[in-house]
Formats: sequence, structure tokens, C-alpha cells
Amino acid sequence: MSEWMKNVRKTEPYVPGEQPKTDNVIKLNTNENPYPPAPGVRKACAGMDTDRFRLYPDPDVTQLTEAIADYYGTDTSEVFVGVGSDDVLAMSFLTFFNSDKPILFPDITYSFYDVWAELFRIPYKRPALKDDFRIDINDYMEPNGGIVLANPNAPTSLYEPVYNIEKIIKANSGSVVIIDEAYIDFGGESVLPLIHKYDNLLVVRTFSKSRSMAGVRIGFAMGSPLLIAALKDVKASYNSYTMNMPAITFGVEAVKDDAYFKNTLEKIINTRNRTKAELEQMGFAVLDSGANFLFASHEKMPAKMIFEKLREKNIYVRYFDKPRIDNYLRITVGTDDEMDAFICAVKEIKENYVCVFQVGVKILSVDQK
Ligand code: PMP
Repeated sequence: MSEWMKNVRKTEPYVPGEQPKTDNVIKLNTNENPYPPAPGVRKACAGMDTDRFRLYPDPDVTQLTEAIADYYGTDTSEVFVGVGSDDVLAMSFLTFFNSDKPILFPDITYSFYDVWAELFRIPYKRPALKDDFRIDINDYMEPNGGIVLANPNAPTSLYEPVYNIEKIIKANSGSVVIIDEAYIDFGGESVLPLIHKYDNLLVVRTFSKSRSMAGVRIGFAMGSPLLIAALKDVKASYNSYTMNMPAITFGVEAVKDDAYFKNTLEKIINTRNRTKAELEQMGFAVLDSGANFLFASHEKMPAKMIFEKLREKNIYVRYFDKPRIDNYLRITVGTDDEMDAFICAVKEIKENYVCVFQVGVKILSVDQK
């Protein structure tokens, strides 16, 4: 082994869901939004002045910070913008989790948290979720170096009410509590108003899910001016220009169109609810989802088998070969047509069905074998 290899930082990277190289896939595996971004984004893209690419972008991301602050009724000093919420979360771990005491997050949650903790050498502890996959708030009452909770949680989709989260924030005034609200627009009440009550609360959001912009990479955090100033200092010590110019412009356009945003959310929530009911009719246990995905397990069919058979039919869902959740599928809510094809394909796996569908087109035929 070469001498230098001893000094290489070794990490076990986060593994994102598969991005297929072809178009003929019904993609229900990475919680993307099946609808396009707001029409204003397309217009801004078509009219983009590419000459401006000569210049560095605004390191303070002023326009987008103002648009977000305006939309959520906060001050610009309470908003931090980054390259997707992964960037915002990574930056937050680096900034706020700097204690000898372990940070806390559940055993089943977004699988990037332990990757960042390892990367930044932050000690961590993962209290087990209860049997019903809900958090036990008593687990978050012991001395710690910080707390991070996804709400709704991933991959379980479960939403924890504000009053429970508030108990955790209140009991931990000595450490920063990060609430990752990547999926909050699809179901729950946000803890956002509490940033004015607790200076240790950081709320993290993304444009990737509810605003259909996973490919543009925009995330943001909202919290007390003290938290945001600390985040900005660390970011500016690492990379001044995280947000590129087109992303800033597109983000502003997305925030402007609230009617489109709300309409898209409503469609996804309706599709989610009826897909859940259909899965339940087929013998699946489906957790109550506050997100744009469902977490489901079948009483007889192993999740891994369903995952593999769906994949053969070019329908991708997510399967985690991990303790406690290895008999569950995480299914992103797509368009109604996509979910019809998905349900039909599951029926085909389960029963004597032959189901012919085309990606992007309605089901062509369903026949008994
Ligand atoms: N938090 C949670 C809970 C997520 O599931 C995801 C999506 N992988 C993210 C954060 C990151 O999303 P993005 O970086 O696209 O904003």
C-alpha cells in the first residue's frame, strides 16, 4: 500500500436511487415530481441571456433569498440558499454539529445523515423508531450535540405533529435541532413559525419535490439570523459561488407561481390517496403518507420479489435491503396514468393478469390470462 493511501479520507458514500439511461421507464424510485416546473421557468429558460454566463453569479443569492423570504413571510436574514437541500444539510452538519456529544437521528431515516456524520467525524446515535415506525420523543431528551429529524420522515412517509417536534426543540435549547421538511408541502403543518420562538431551530426545505426542480438543485434553510449567519460564514469559507445564475433565475420564477404550485400539490395528494386505497385492496399494508411517496409491504409477496418483477417491466420503485424495512417498497407518486400502470403491473405479479401499457400512455389493455 502506498504511504499516501493511509491519509486518504475513506467514506462510504450515500447511494441515490437509480437514474435510468433510457426514457421508457416509469420512474417511481427517487421521489421526483411527475409534473413539470411552473411555466415561468420554461419561459425564463428560453429567454436566458447566456452572455451573462461570463460573470460570476451573485454570491449572496439575493434575488432568490428575497423571493423565498417574501413567500414565507420571513426576513432575508433568516434564509440560507444552497445547491439542493443535500448541500444545505451538509453545510448545516459542518456548521452546527461540532460537539463531542453524539448527534441524534432515528435508526430509520434519510440515509445521508450517517454519511455526513461519518464524513465530518461527528459522533452520532440512532435511537430506534417504535414498532409503528414513529419516533419516541423521550429518545431526544438526553444530552446531545444536535438533532436532525426528517418530517415527514423518509422512507417511512410518516408525519410527526408540530406539538411533538416542539417538545424536542424546547428541551434541547443547548443544541441545534434541524427539521428536514423536504416533503412537508405534501401533507403536514410546518414547524416554520417556531423559528421566531426558538433560536436553535433550523428548518430545511427543497425545490426538488413539491416545486418539480430536482434537476436544478435548489434547497434552503430558514432559522434565526444567528444560525443563518453562521451557515453563511461556513459556506463562504468553502465555496463562494454555490448557486449558479440559471438556478437563481429559475428558482425565483418557481416561487412566483403559487397557483401552479398548489394545483400540482393537489393532484399528487389525490393520486397518492387513491393509490394507497388500491394497494390496500390488494393486501398491502401502507403507512399513512404525508409525502409524495408511499411505504408499503404486502402480507404474502416479498417486497424484493415485487421490486425485481416491476423492474423487469420497466417500472422502478425503491427497495432498501436494510434491517426492519427489507420487506417494504417505497413508491413515488407519479401521474394518474403512471400509477394505473403500476397498479396494473402489481396485479399482474399477484394474480392472473396480463397488463399492456406504454410509458406516457394510458393502459392499453388488461386481460385475464
Ligand atoms: N431530505 C430528504 C428527507 C430527502 O429524501 C431528500 C431527497 N433525496 C433530500 C433531503 C435531498 O433532496 P435535494 O438535495 O434534492 O433537495
